[in-house]
Amino acid sequence: MLLDTFGRIATDLRVSLTDRCNLRCTYCMPEEGLSWLAKPELLTDDEIVRLVRIAVTDLGVTEVRFTGGEPLLRPGLVGIVERCAALTPRPKLSLTTNGIGLERVAGALREAGLDRVNVSLDTIDPETFQRITRRRRHGDVLRGLAAARDAGLTPVKINAVLLPGVNEAEAPDLLSWAIEQRYELRFIEQMPLDAQHGWQRDSMITAGDILRSLRTRFTLTPEGEEERGSAPAERWLVDGGPARVGVIASVTRPFCRACDRTRLTADGQVRTCLFAREESDLRGALRSGAADAEIASRWRAAMWGKKAGSGLDDPAFVQPQRPMSAIGG
Ligand code: SAM
Ligand code: SF4
Repeated sequence: MLLDTFGRIATDLRVSLTDRCNLRCTYCMPEEGLSWLAKPELLTDDEIVRLVRIAVTDLGVTEVRFTGGEPLLRPGLVGIVERCAALTPRPKLSLTTNGIGLERVAGALREAGLDRVNVSLDTIDPETFQRITRRRRHGDVLRGLAAARDAGLTPVKINAVLLPGVNEAEAPDLLSWAIEQRYELRFIEQMPLDAQHGWQRDSMITAGDILRSLRTRFTLTPEGEEERGSAPAERWLVDGGPARVGVIASVTRPFCRACDRTRLTADGQVRTCLFAREESDLRGALRSGAADAEIASRWRAAMWGKKAGSGLDDPAFVQPQRPMSAIGG
């Protein structure tokens, strides 16, 4: 298994399928100027499936989430999902996407064996959407969400980031709309992972701010700490349930002690944490003919070196070189 020196066991693998994206969310990417990984640097579909197989059969991974960049831009996505769904033991499979193009591919992904999707949507207002993502694609995302729900990729979860002076007042409207549409909304605190290093702690919208804003319209009852487990979202029942809302307070209430994540970048580097500054190269091992056992052993060694926490609270915190889009959020 993937054990670290603090006794944590990683069972949840995040795989980035590409660092590219068709949106330019201000909290993630600059408008232009970000350079992409060259094609030969990216893992091939076969290499991805092999690493997922090693993770699942040799290293105890039980859940695999495909992400990016925008994973729907990966041409072989449906085939990758299908081959991962055929593994024994079969991992739970999910996808984090901006939803653009999901309308066309949701049914095929479901048939291939995908269990669930998380779609990122920060606003129900098309103008605000354009301001945040720098693209006019709000309608595509709404249609993608509906297609995922109709295809049975449920519960469909929505990830929303609130930005000061942009959509910070929208939390209650977004929640009303999500409940009406049968999506499960989760707010994510903005983290210092943008390529342009523009994050500022003093101005970020905190979990406390979000809950205060939601409570102006809804009654929120905590679901209970014990149910949180290693899930990063703390969840509340809305107006007595069954609707829920989650808040992922990675900055103000980090969940590092219970972290069960391991990450693979699109170019085959293991990262033990979103905020890690070290990476371990598995692509080199793959391409130099290493056996499964050697790759598994490198992965275990990488996880053994996982740090206790994100280091965000340390005054000496330095943002990782790779932005979120290149790590795989
Ligand atoms: N493109 C896909 C998407 O947007 O869902 C997948 C990759 S994206 C990096 C994964 C998640 O990270 C999204 O929900 C996005 O909102 C979130 N994200 C990106 N930058 C962030 C930041 N600086 N702080 C918090 N969340 C961020
Ligand atoms: Fe693209 Fe997702 Fe980053 Fe937005 S958050 S720019 S959709 S990778």
